[in-house]
Amino acid sequence: MTDSATVLAGLDELRPQLEELYQHLHAHPELSNQEVASAARMAEGLRASGFEVHEQVGASTGVVGILRNGEGPVVLLRADMDGLPVLEDEKVPYRSRARGTWQGTDVPIMHACGHDTHMTALQGATRLLADSTDAWSGTLVAVFQPAEEVVAGAYGMAEQVKELVPHIDVALGQHVWPAPAGTVHTAAGPVMASTDGCNITIHSRGGHGSQPENTVDPVVIAAHIVVRLQTIVSREIAPQSMAVVTVGRLNAGSKGNIIPATAEIEINIRSYDEGVRAHLKRSIERIVNAECAAAGEPARAEFEWITPAPVTDNDPPSAERLGAAFDAAFGDDHWDLVPVAGSEDFGVLGDVYPAPYVFWFFGGFPRDVYEKALAQGTLAEDVPSNHAPNFIPEMQPTLDTGVRALVVAAMEWLARR
Ligand SMILES: [Zn+2]
Ligand SMILES: [Zn+2]
Repeated sequence: MTDSATVLAGLDELRPQLEELYQHLHAHPELSNQEVASAARMAEGLRASGFEVHEQVGASTGVVGILRNGEGPVVLLRADMDGLPVLEDEKVPYRSRARGTWQGTDVPIMHACGHDTHMTALQGATRLLADSTDAWSGTLVAVFQPAEEVVAGAYGMAEQVKELVPHIDVALGQHVWPAPAGTVHTAAGPVMASTDGCNITIHSRGGHGSQPENTVDPVVIAAHIVVRLQTIVSREIAPQSMAVVTVGRLNAGSKGNIIPATAEIEINIRSYDEGVRAHLKRSIERIVNAECAAAGEPARAEFEWITPAPVTDNDPPSAERLGAAFDAAFGDDHWDLVPVAGSEDFGVLGDVYPAPYVFWFFGGFPRDVYEKALAQGTLAEDVPSNHAPNFIPEMQPTLDTGVRALVVAAMEWLARR
């Protein structure tokens, strides 16, 4: 038996408990930075497995468990805990009926990004590793992170995690997504994009709609900005580099015969490269300021950069090492990961050290449904995407796969050799 198979021998016995935990978490999702009950449950599970447990790490609901098992590498495993303001489709008996308050509004809550599978898988892996300490040597660190969906949780915890565990050899994390349950997907290098948001306010001079000569119209300035921003990706970024600049919100004015005094533009950007990311940010500010200057005094812009997340950039040697371990454990069900334009804050937990990290995906949906949809070209319609109201992974083999992937990955560093 391989080292990880020794650890995973206990999975059959543990499975009913994990399925029960998963159904409980799925039925009781909590919004970002409000994961109080989930965090308590995670802490309780870690304590039962013999971990040293730290709660409220990072001024929110973060939980860190540490299991010291002799000399050897320090491996950090991370799961995120938050749900989303989404009304769940009625598909499973353990559907969520939870409601909460989001930005002052009463909203339904659903684990529409599958973070309940992440929590369950990490509980399973930590229990199995704690039950087979003869098979490995080193230190296991389990991080249950709040507020991934608002790209805040990892930033909130990183410094305190580093205080609790001053050195790590590798950080490992995973995400469920629309692929066949049973598959795992890895790649070296950038696997998820960086993201930044920017709220831009154009301050200018408003007035009567009949007297444009007495105003400097921010609506026209904003219109020029939106068009000119399109030239960043098309004219400034090399075709082989990935970059997205999206103007997702444009607000100005209240009535046709009033030239407003301000206009608001909200932008979101993505890239796979920190140099490209910096270029996008510089170009946005340059274009906005130049369009204000072109319109004349008193037009000026105010920038508020928000919700940053770094490129999720898998350390190549570690990703190759993990890839070989996944090949051995999953065979043909280990797929190459094509980089995605979505973003994650997981990398922050590696960058704070800095330490190498690897992030991978695992499938959560019936294989026959996926294969049929792929053949018909109907993947977008037939396999729900993360954040959709029907993003409800099939419980098995999704949970088993999440547990196995974490154990195989951790044991690649921790196994006694
Ligand atoms: Zn999400
Ligand atoms: Zn997610």
